[in-house]
Amino acid sequence: MGQRWTRQALEELALEERARIGAGPNAALDLSRLTLEWGVPVYATSELAEQGCTADALEHFAVKGARKWSAALVRSGTGYFIVENCSHSPQRRRSNVAHEMAHLLLEHEFDTVLFADDGCRSLDTSMKKQEEQALNLSAELLIPKKAAIKAAIAGWADEQVAQHFDVSIEFARMRMNPSGARAIARRYLAKRA
Ligand SMILES: [Zn+2]
Repeated sequence: MGQRWTRQALEELALEERARIGAGPNAALDLSRLTLEWGVPVYATSELAEQGCTADALEHFAVKGARKWSAALVRSGTGYFIVENCSHSPQRRRSNVAHEMAHLLLEHEFDTVLFADDGCRSLDTSMKKQEEQALNLSAELLIPKKAAIKAAIAGWADEQVAQHFDVSIEFARMRMNPSGARAIARRYLAKRA
């Protein structure tokens, strides 16, 4: 739980996970292959009861309300499954599921259900740290920093990046600038000129 992950360690972990399913850094991530590889089923809310979800977990979802949460990682026996809120766009759902996978890959500890939602902001310090790690790792999984820099050097607009990696425009934008990809590309291109 207290493990410290540097940005570089997260970058490397994401590339390892991509390599595990035979994907390089520059392709759109096949998320279903990654969840399959880890033996983590992904269910829509409507499928939950028939999948034998515990009454406890079902109650969590009902109490949370349909709009307020995006996805959840649920412990089930010795394994895990992910529940996703299908009312979101397919691209948003990809980042939601990637976020939950990131918690799993980072071996974050939690009771029964770990939600990804707006409630994260009111978490205590150690949970906040885990949220930040999951956010950064899911960003690396969907668009590795390496690939973001390559796209920036190639002059791709945020829209192009979004389309290529099958993520929302907001996600692509968040990835291209705050990660420093465009600044690195500018320096690289200036040096080469
Ligand atoms: Zn989270």
